[in-house]
Parts: sequence; structure tokens; C-alpha cells
Amino acid sequence: MPNYSDVLASVRKRIKEVPLEELKKRVEAREPMTLVDVREKEEYRAGYIPGAVSVPRGFLEQQIESRVPDKTAKVVTYCAGGVRSAFAAATLAELGYTNVESANPGFVRWKDLGYPVELPPQLTDAQRDRYSRHILLPEVGEAGQVKLLKAKILLLGAGGLGSPAALYLAAAGVRTLGIVDADTVDASNLQRQIIHRTSRVGMPKVESAAETIAELNPDVKVVGHKERLTSANVERLFEGYDVVVDGTDNFPTRYLVNDASVFLGKPVVHGSIFRFDGQVTTFVPAKAAAAFGVPQGPCYRCLYPEPPPPHLAPSCQEAGVLGILCGIIGTLQATEAIKLVLGRGEVLAGRLLTYDSLKMRFRELKLHRDPACPVCGPKPRISTYVDYEGFCNVGA
Ligand SMILES: [Zn+2]
Repeated sequence: MPNYSDVLASVRKRIKEVPLEELKKRVEAREPMTLVDVREKEEYRAGYIPGAVSVPRGFLEQQIESRVPDKTAKVVTYCAGGVRSAFAAATLAELGYTNVESANPGFVRWKDLGYPVELPPQLTDAQRDRYSRHILLPEVGEAGQVKLLKAKILLLGAGGLGSPAALYLAAAGVRTLGIVDADTVDASNLQRQIIHRTSRVGMPKVESAAETIAELNPDVKVVGHKERLTSANVERLFEGYDVVVDGTDNFPTRYLVNDASVFLGKPVVHGSIFRFDGQVTTFVPAKAAAAFGVPQGPCYRCLYPEPPPPHLAPSCQEAGVLGILCGIIGTLQATEAIKLVLGRGEVLAGRLLTYDSLKMRFRELKLHRDPACPVCGPKPRISTYVDYEGFCNVGA
């Protein structure tokens, strides 16, 4: 029975091998040939000889005829060290290819010699087409689009603000959109919550949002969290996301979100609406400022250290809201999230942008850090989550 060395030696006798120096000359002279990289996909993704096509050894017999239909064409196989490519060359000869060589040694040595290496394009042709208007912007480009395609953004609420934010973030190609919402779609939501549809009344909002996004952009993975945000789940929900977009508007949630943002170092893009007015700001805690390269801003407790006593809190009656106001504020929030991911522009850290839709007027207020802030100050009093009770839970 021949052993491995015998088989390899016999294969080497049957095939032609080409030294790397010679192969480099041919690559540089653009000699007509098909370079076949028979390593695994992950190896190929880390870099390959310019012009090589990837056909992993395990798929060689199945795939080679579609990649190289002409069996008299010049084919050079290579792998990491020259063994897998030798077996591949022998297999190609058995399949009827008449002009095959195997590079010896392989890519590891090629790289050590400082010969040219290409990296695979990070975007598919379909993605280059879909995101072409982003890629044309020098401030975004392919590199920025790749960042978006890797970004993980958590949306709190699939309501008035979460709907437009989710649609634009999905269209932008954000890789993972987490959505926290425990409610179901109600007919009275549809005047402003534009991610939902009449046919989905009664359906959980996270499922309805996931359906719309799946149709809009298959690049986006929606992770639905059908639960209310509490002190018990806030860390689990925030973990794994880069940016939080807060579209909920009630006191207990606002404080929970703020404290988690400071503890975990996650930036939070906050938006709120009331009747004809809206406001947006971005809370950037110290750790997030360093990670995103943006200035640190105040936290919510720098402005309002404690919630008001329940009897002074806003009325429990649902307030009216101009539907389209949600579109303005939610898309401003999405813009902030995208800027954070891209690392471009100036985010609303330490600035509150207010919008009056009746007067059609934007204003900006400076927000300052409180050196005695109970959570983000140098001597924090609050280091665990507080569940504030007794407030209405009226979502946007
Ligand atoms: Zn603070």
C-alpha cells in the first residue's frame, strides 16, 4: 500500500510545477493564463495572487468547468505551500485539462518574498450598484459603505420615531438592526408609524417592521426584541450593538437608557416629539467618545439628575402629534447614527436641536456636563439601574 509521501511523489512526477519567480514574471507580463487559488475561502479572503480565481480544493471537480471551460487553456494552480495545488493539478489533468501547472512553493512564500498581493473587493457587484450614490460621496466611499454594512444599531421602539429611522438605516445597508418593541400594530399608529401597514394591524410591531425591511433591503438582518426595556434586560439588549437610537418617550426608560449608555459606553441618539415640536440630541459618554472619535457630551442626568415626582410628570392622557413631525425627528436621529458609524461630521454631542413645525424653525441649545452628575461625574452616586415606577408608558 503506498503511503502519503509515495502518493505525493507520484503526483509530482505526473504534473508540471512552476517556481514562484517564473510565475511572478508571467503575472507581471499579463501572460494569458487562469490562476486558480485552491485554498479555502477564508485563506483567499486574506489576500491572493493578483487575478487569481478562488476554487477551493474541495469544490475543484464541481466548479472548474464553469470557471475554465476551455480544457486547452493555460491553468496554474496554487495553494499555501504547493501540496494541495499539486493534487489539484493532477485532478485537472484527469478531467482533461492539457496545459496545467502547479506553483511550488505557494502563497505563503509568495507573500514572504514581497510579491504583489490583492485583497478581494469587500462589496459585491450588487452592493456596489445598490449603494452607488453613497460610494460616490468621497466622505463615504466603499470604505464607509463597508462600515455601514458591518454596523449594528439598536432601535428602541418601532413607533413614530423608530419607523422612519429604521427605514433609512435599512436602506443605508446597516448590517444588523435590533428593534425593541413589545407592542402590536394598532390602526391609530398608521398616521405616523410608516414602517407598518394596514394589513398588519394586530401583528407584533417587531415582526411588521422586519417584514418591511426584508422587502426593502436583504442585506439587513433584523433582530426583533419583543419585550419592554427594564433594568433586568437593558444590558443584555444593549450588548453587541454599536449605537442606540432611542425613540421611546417616557421617564423610566429615559433614565434606564441613559445609565446603560454611561455604564456600557454606548452613544445614544435621543429624539422626542410633542404635538408640533420635536427635539434631538446625541448622548456621547466618555468611553464612546474615545471609540468614535467624537467629543464627550453631557448625559441625561447632567441635565435632569432625577425624574420629577409622579404628580408633576406629564399627564397620562395621550397627546396628539403631527404625524410627519415623527418623520423629521426620526430621520434626524438616523442621520446622527450614520455619522457615528462613518466617523464623519459633527454629532449633536452637547447640543439640543429643537424643531417647531408650525413656525418651521430649528434652534440649537448648548447642553453642558454637570461636574456633580450622579452617574457620569467623577464621583458617581448611581452605579446600578433604577426602575422608576408610577409614570405613564405612552410611546411615540
Ligand atoms: Zn452626566
